[in-house]
Formats: sequence, C-alpha cells, structure tokens
Amino acid sequence: MNCELCGASSSLVRVQVEGVLLNVCPKCAGFGKAVPQQRPQQRPIKVREEKIPLILPEYSAIIRQKREQLGLNQEDFAKKIGEKASLLHKIEVGEVQLGVDLAKRLERMFGIRLFDESDYSGEKPAKAKSEGLTLGDMVKIRRR
Ligand SMILES: [Zn+2]
Repeated sequence: MNCELCGASSSLVRVQVEGVLLNVCPKCAGFGKAVPQQRPQQRPIKVREEKIPLILPEYSAIIRQKREQLGLNQEDFAKKIGEKASLLHKIEVGEVQLGVDLAKRLERMFGIRLFDESDYSGEKPAKAKSEGLTLGDMVKIRRR
C-alpha cells in the first residue's frame, strides 16, 4: 500500500483531510485528522410508509358531475356501478364516505379521479383539488 498523498510505501494510517478519508503514511498523517480505524457504518433506518389512499374531499361533486354528464339519474347510475341508489344518493350528498373499493371502481369505469395522488404523482395539490369542480358545485352541495 502506498500513501495516497505522497505515494511513499509505508504502513498507512487513515486520516481525514478536508473531509476526505485517505490512507496516508505517518509523515502525511499530520495533514489530516485521525479517524478511528473501523468506523461503524451508519445506516439510515428505513421507515416503511404504508400508503393510505386518500379520497378527494370533493368526491361527491365529482361523482354527481360525472353522472349528470352521462345523462343518468341516480337509479340508473347506481345500477351501472352495481350499487343501491340510496347509497349513491348518500355518497352524492356527502352523507356517506365513499369506500376505497368503490372509488377505485368508479375511477376505472369513468376515467375520473377520486384519489388524492398529489403525493406521488408530482402534481401540485392545488391543481388536483380544483380539478373538475367549480365553486358553484361546492355551494350547491352545501345548500342541499
Ligand atoms: Zn505520505
């Protein structure tokens, strides 16, 4: 082994020179700061994050808007998605929280977006939140 600073063949010591770890001869060791021979490897502890799908708070308006766009009443729409009209009604007025499974089904069937995927799609949350929803829709919902 040769000194990484001067190239001298010698027994080397491990020092830190300006933040860089080098194996140097005892003569060059003075240039750096001695570091312990065997540094324990510090590994960052990885925390597994369970991704919980987050349904957009405007799910009611998004579904209703899609239904109206298709020209279907609640009963027909409910049939189409294989749910009871009463449940659909409750979902549309926000009385019942949309289930994750149904939300996924609706997304696939109608190409709508019901999950807040801003976290991993890289999109800005503001854009996702306003998608397909006007202020008028929000007001209408509240008044029902
Ligand atoms: Zn040296």
